[in-house]
Amino acid sequence: MRAVEEAGALALLVTHGPDVRYLSGFTGSSGAIALLGGRATLFTDGRYAEQARAEAAGLRVVIDKRPPEMQAVEWLASLGGRPCAYDPGRTTVESLERMKKAVPGRLRRGFFVPMDGPVAGLRQIKDDEEVARLRRACAVGCGLFASVLEYVTRSATETQVAAQLEFMARLAGAEAMSFETIVASGERSALPHGRATSARLPERGFVTLDFGVVVDGYCSDMTRTVHLGRATEREWEVYHSVLEAQQVAIAAVRAGVRCADVDEAARSVLRRVGLEKEFAHSTGHGVGLEIHEGPRIAAGQEQMLEAGMVITIEPGAYLAGRPASAVPERGRSRQRCLRSNGDAAGEDGFGVRIEDMLLVTRSGCEVLTDASPKDWIEL
Ligand code: ZN
Ligand code: ZN
Repeated sequence: MRAVEEAGALALLVTHGPDVRYLSGFTGSSGAIALLGGRATLFTDGRYAEQARAEAAGLRVVIDKRPPEMQAVEWLASLGGRPCAYDPGRTTVESLERMKKAVPGRLRRGFFVPMDGPVAGLRQIKDDEEVARLRRACAVGCGLFASVLEYVTRSATETQVAAQLEFMARLAGAEAMSFETIVASGERSALPHGRATSARLPERGFVTLDFGVVVDGYCSDMTRTVHLGRATEREWEVYHSVLEAQQVAIAAVRAGVRCADVDEAARSVLRRVGLEKEFAHSTGHGVGLEIHEGPRIAAGQEQMLEAGMVITIEPGAYLAGRPASAVPERGRSRQRCLRSNGDAAGEDGFGVRIEDMLLVTRSGCEVLTDASPKDWIEL
């Protein structure tokens, strides 16, 4: 909490659910923590009285009907109106207004000090218990990929594949999915965030599966891309370029390396084969209680990796289809005619993404999702 003192604030107000859980163990949907002089108090409402006392053992727990952030601010103000740090990225305008009202007028000036995610910073480094939970989540994820492959068939729809995966996830002990399961097939694999739709898997083409489970509150996140039917040479090449980019980036991961350099490691491989523009997102992100946390593995990120961070490495390449009229050799009028005859003169788009989760160590990293193969899979 040194960051709090450095910012001139003597108290810290924590209202973001995952931050509250991180500091206290409390998992209820309504809670706030006030930290002052090394003492933490958890505020919640009557619905959570028993749960809060059981989960947040060791913390003072206050139960009241009013919104917890109001209770917390009132308590802090009653102790003499010290400046109070809050996270502006996690506080709604409505909530800030409510908090201001809880401070007597004479203390309001300078009472609130915005501070960027002091708890989010702590959460980036996982302790042994957190790593164990993340390992369990990743193990469930890897098991699901192995089991779901038998449902990745031409007669299935994307939502059916997602449904099977999610059903098996619950049976395997997942509390929830980390995010909406992505099953993007055929041309839709060119969409980096193609949620599962009613589209049927194609006779031939890529299927991208990006999914994760929550185990003991902690998320997993992984992506595998498989191919239905025989691939073209181009598809095979793009897959292996993305795989190489991913492996080169993983090899660059080590405590003390800048996040931007890991991103560049992946990007440079794709640049060399002319796929730089086709890789339009960042290389990875932290994972923990939330599916997207710090650090960001992206261009321009000066932050250094540290041992104990858990991050993803997930380069991709997304090639938009070329409509028939864009194929250069043929005349436009003829093109229109060909298209109406159902001639496939254009090119279908496709995409590939490969994502692993890994634990940063002093000498390198450990891939937590390495139980799932990344070798070429043709079904
Ligand atoms: Zn993912
Ligand atoms: Zn991810």
